[in-house]
Amino acid sequence: MVSCCLSGGLRLLRGVNRMLSRRYSLDVSGDLLRSQAFINGRWVSAPDSFAVLDPATGAELCSVSDCSVPQAQEAVTAAYTAFQTWKTHTAKERSVLLRKWFDLVNHHKEDLAKIITAECGKPMKESIGEIAYSASFLEWFSEEARRVYGDIVSPAAKDRKILLIKQPVGVASVITPWNFPSAMITRKVGAALAAGCTVVVKPAEDTPLSALALAELAAQAGIPPGVFNVVPCSREKAPAVGEVLCTDPLVAKISFTGSTATGKALLKHAAGTVKKVSMELGGHAPFIVFDSADVDKAVAGAMASKFRNSGQTCVCSNRFLVQSGIHDVFLEKLGKAMDAELRVGHGFEPTTTQGPLINTRAAEKVERQVTDAVSQGAVLVKGGKRLEGSFMQPTLLSNVSADMLCMQEETFGPLIPILKFNTEKEALAIANASQVGLAGYFYSQDLSQIWRVAEQLEVGMVGVNEGLISTAEAPFGGVKQSGLGREGSKYGVDEYLELKYVCMGGLTL
Ligand code: NAP
Repeated sequence: MVSCCLSGGLRLLRGVNRMLSRRYSLDVSGDLLRSQAFINGRWVSAPDSFAVLDPATGAELCSVSDCSVPQAQEAVTAAYTAFQTWKTHTAKERSVLLRKWFDLVNHHKEDLAKIITAECGKPMKESIGEIAYSASFLEWFSEEARRVYGDIVSPAAKDRKILLIKQPVGVASVITPWNFPSAMITRKVGAALAAGCTVVVKPAEDTPLSALALAELAAQAGIPPGVFNVVPCSREKAPAVGEVLCTDPLVAKISFTGSTATGKALLKHAAGTVKKVSMELGGHAPFIVFDSADVDKAVAGAMASKFRNSGQTCVCSNRFLVQSGIHDVFLEKLGKAMDAELRVGHGFEPTTTQGPLINTRAAEKVERQVTDAVSQGAVLVKGGKRLEGSFMQPTLLSNVSADMLCMQEETFGPLIPILKFNTEKEALAIANASQVGLAGYFYSQDLSQIWRVAEQLEVGMVGVNEGLISTAEAPFGGVKQSGLGREGSKYGVDEYLELKYVCMGGLTL
């Protein structure tokens, strides 16, 4: 059903958090604020609805259709029907439509960013950045759509020709998390549509509004009905909807971004009908500062890599390993940078750099890691306290050891734990002692060390003297239990293509 507060603009009401006593309101074009599912080019209501909350205040933003099994099935059928036509479009036709979608996202970037801040909590500056990042995948894949080539291979027999052609796999189910509610969708859907696949998107319960705004703009761009479908649902219904999306025989491909635990459950679903899968799962990134590092650059990299989205990114630095010779000066400068640069508040406040965590459970997890570390001898240098609601103080811990909780599990919050090490070998052993391997960062000015460490880190992406590395041009993905496959880059389209071998025989040449 349509929401309570979407007529002509979204009104964010003051919530339970007294720290945020003023009223936050925003005007967003009514067309972009959607609360129904988007199936086969139509806005469709479900019998039930769920509330979308402002994580900063707990106030209800609006109420969104709570899709269940019938809507998921309807969307899969629509996508399958649309696939029969979409795959016959020329690459250029698909490219032009993706480009129009990109242009529209850019045109509405301000409003789309407001929606992200409202439902996800990140500061407006970061939301604007996410929209630019999100749009970049539509642009990139509008270009890549025309560069899907096959091969002609030299045969061993004289009367044969060997051709390899690439074809779209079919309907792709796309399940995405709340921490990048727009970009995690376009990174998958841009590639899928470029390849000639159609999609059904299930966004996170916390952030369906960004997905629905993308659907509105896809329709305005002229993307045909059934090619891009969105079925929002509550957390309660996610397992049932997910099961349809991951087991329906009409679905050929699953692309998931989220936790490793959910990824494993979806992989089991996929096994039943042997679907192609891409999994972008959890990370536990090491951030290593060697004695030879430029300390100021290392501090700037640490700040950028750790505190974006209040520490809620899969590529966030999680484990800080600092060599003994540079340790004290790095700790001191990092503490000063935290004091100077970080401001906790509502994402709509212009001075805010640290919004809320997505919910109180997330803040409790960070608090638990801090308590565990301090109880085992870590020194609390800065922060450490939960504020009201789901806000958490940016926190700095020193004297951390590898067996503490914060070094064993993904934090997903604004906590920097610092472990002092002596040798490169020791740092690599600690960094690689993890079941996951998404991103890793290190700072060094020693060229030989840079090559040694870049090659030996067991991760899918390495930042050398750089704390922010994600870009549409480079492949995004992890090793070990961080997932399967790559997104973005020239390799991203391959995840949605099958390679077909055609042998032409009996030729008289
Ligand atoms: P999550 O709990 O796994 O949720 C991700 C998505 O899966 C949401 O849409 C969620 O729906 C849905 N879901 C949950 N259980 C499901 C089920 N049984 N069947 C079908 N769908 C189901 O992850 P999260 O906590 O939202 O996100 C944080 C995690 O994502 C972190 O571990 C982070 O590292 C990882 N992440 C990875 C990347 C990457 O590119 N590698 C990027 C961003 C985040 P509900 O919202 O309704 O629960």
